[in-house]
Amino acid sequence: MPSSKSSSRSHFTLIAALCLLLLSACSKEQHGPQVSGETMGTSYSMQWHGQAETLKIKTVRLLAEKRLAEINQLMSTYIPDSQLSLYNAQDHSGWFAADAELISVLDDAYAISQASEGAFDITVGPLVNLWGFGAKLEGFAFPSEAEVRIARLTLGWDHIQTRQQPLSIFKPAENVYVDLSAIAKGYAVDQLAQLLDDFNIENYMVEIGGEIKAKGIAEHGAVWRIGIETPMHEGRSVEAVIGLNNLGVATSGDYRNYFEHEGQSYSHTIDPRTGYPVQHNLASVTVLHESTTVADAWATALLVLGPQKAYTYAEENDLAVLLITREDKGYVKTFSSRMRPFILN
Ligand code: ADP
Ligand code: MG
Repeated sequence: MPSSKSSSRSHFTLIAALCLLLLSACSKEQHGPQVSGETMGTSYSMQWHGQAETLKIKTVRLLAEKRLAEINQLMSTYIPDSQLSLYNAQDHSGWFAADAELISVLDDAYAISQASEGAFDITVGPLVNLWGFGAKLEGFAFPSEAEVRIARLTLGWDHIQTRQQPLSIFKPAENVYVDLSAIAKGYAVDQLAQLLDDFNIENYMVEIGGEIKAKGIAEHGAVWRIGIETPMHEGRSVEAVIGLNNLGVATSGDYRNYFEHEGQSYSHTIDPRTGYPVQHNLASVTVLHESTTVADAWATALLVLGPQKAYTYAEENDLAVLLITREDKGYVKTFSSRMRPFILN
């Protein structure tokens, strides 16, 4: 059994809140309307201000909770009759009728798997469960090499095809298990942002478990300020501050959701190439992108790729990325060229 392990486990992640600290959200000076609650095993919050302050908080809460429930009912592996759970339970290969929304997220995931050469892989589900980080938790024991090898046999993001007519997802084999935890929170953030856009709200910040989208300006009149946590296992502090306008931001890290076994840490990000949790000194990756869905998935993909490859990829593809590595001298921050202008401290 692991010697220490995060306790809250529900919906998309065990302890999703690896948490960008929301500096502005924590500010005492803040007066604008806010809605918050629980979703995907973590918390969500929405705040806005300006011309739309008359918009009823109750209305926003109702619509947000409805939207989140719809998304969970499609994409959660923690809801036994969600569309994704039914796909995972299908006991034969073949096409599975699915909703356009689920298909669009699978298509986004596919593109990032392709670009990251399989570092991002939603078919990693059996390994996530094997390592005790998924929805299937019973009887966790540190896996043997043979178990890892067997769980790896079902990997294959490139076999998850989708089609539009009729809307469906291909299931390559009975034991293929798709896990959208590394992209669904980002997607849900984009959807909550869309909800506020539909009300013509110009200044807002929306957040689920540390994945954020901000638009316009914060209440003090300047750009929204987002704190990026120091990737420490214990305690909390801010390592970098990012100014965010009309963009999504996501952070993936190895420091919140992990367990220790024989002196070694094992985090919930799995390297599909080895079947083991990532083992390098890259402790956190923050990605900015106009789509929070894309930012969320790339944060995980780059964490798998490791510090050098992540940096090279970010530079070659003009991605705004902040990498924090754990080194003898302490935490070291590396910004891609595209990220630098957003850093405020
Ligand atoms: P983080 O905030 O650290 O990115 P997320 O909850 O967004 O955490 O994503 C981590 C989750 O993604 C894991 O718990 C697992 O379900 C899933 N996952 C792990 N490794 C991979 C991978 N290589 N590709 C896609 N999803 C993964
Ligand atoms: Mg994430």
